[in-house]
Amino acid sequence: MTPVIRAQGLVKDYGSTRALHGVDLDVQAGEVFGFLGPNGAGKSTTIRLLMDLLRPTAGTVEIFGTAPAAGGPGLRERIGYLPGELSFPARMSAGEYLAYLAALRGGRGRRRTGELAERLSLDLSRPLRALSKGNKQKVGLVQAFMHEPELLVLDEPTSGLDPLLQREFLHLAREAGAGGATVFLSSHMLQEVEEVAGRVAIIREGRVVDVDDVRALRARAGQQVLLRFAGPVSLAEFAELPGVEDAALDPSDGVTLSCLLRGDPMPLLTAAARHRVVRWQAEDRELEDLFLDFYRRPAGPTTADRPAPGPGAAHQEAVR
Ligand code: ADP
Repeated sequence: MTPVIRAQGLVKDYGSTRALHGVDLDVQAGEVFGFLGPNGAGKSTTIRLLMDLLRPTAGTVEIFGTAPAAGGPGLRERIGYLPGELSFPARMSAGEYLAYLAALRGGRGRRRTGELAERLSLDLSRPLRALSKGNKQKVGLVQAFMHEPELLVLDEPTSGLDPLLQREFLHLAREAGAGGATVFLSSHMLQEVEEVAGRVAIIREGRVVDVDDVRALRARAGQQVLLRFAGPVSLAEFAELPGVEDAALDPSDGVTLSCLLRGDPMPLLTAAARHRVVRWQAEDRELEDLFLDFYRRPAGPTTADRPAPGPGAAHQEAVR
């Protein structure tokens, strides 16, 4: 099946700065695909190349099997795009602007504008120039979703939205996916995309370093665990347990154990339960911690230098 998005060997230089070093991506029809990486990793650059707003220094892009530069309005109509940086005409209200966009699309999307604005609590009568960053983001989201495109390309869609509206956005993305649309969304937070995304690609310093199922990624990120015991324990009891890494005992008290837990929690729980536990704290680790794992790996080719790994295939690479 032709992928909806295919990027091969994308290189992008800004003057003497190389922002992308050969990015490969394959996104299949109906996938909700997360594109994760810290600020400056190259997410927006990749997305602008997909949207033909920038031209690659090297490499190729195909959207629905067509080079975006050759696709013309017929291709654009099938895509809803939320740019990372929004700019709007100053003199229109949000409603006028969205009506204008619907008119450009032959009326498509007019019907859904009101419903989307309501769900995102966007006041359509306000002038665009008077809108806060969050409200501008809502206008950006409405214009991306309103014509029910087959492909949504969303650059940091939750940026500037308060938590309630972030949830509403996740509902919208999930609905679009359930309705058969392909959704490609970027973020710098794993937490933000894990509820909706199936697969994610991780980009770091212009390279895709991993592609995996989001659940596998979450399991791999693991949890930072802190245990406090009523009396002294020995580190040796915990350090070698399956799933336990970086175990350390606080030397100042001898009763506080910290470790990284990946996978099955039972061996650690069983060992801990041999003592009286007075405190248990487990926190999901974030994307940044996964990056640290990548940095901790010995030097060598990254997974991006090899054929795209299947789900879970890169696991050993990342945790080694
Ligand atoms: P992200 O979206 O992941 O935050 P970007 O794609 O915006 O990352 O940026 C990738 C790299 O390219 C960064 O080092 C950034 O400073 C650089 N960059 C982005 N846009 C430009 C530009 N117009 N001119 C020069 N450098 C740029």
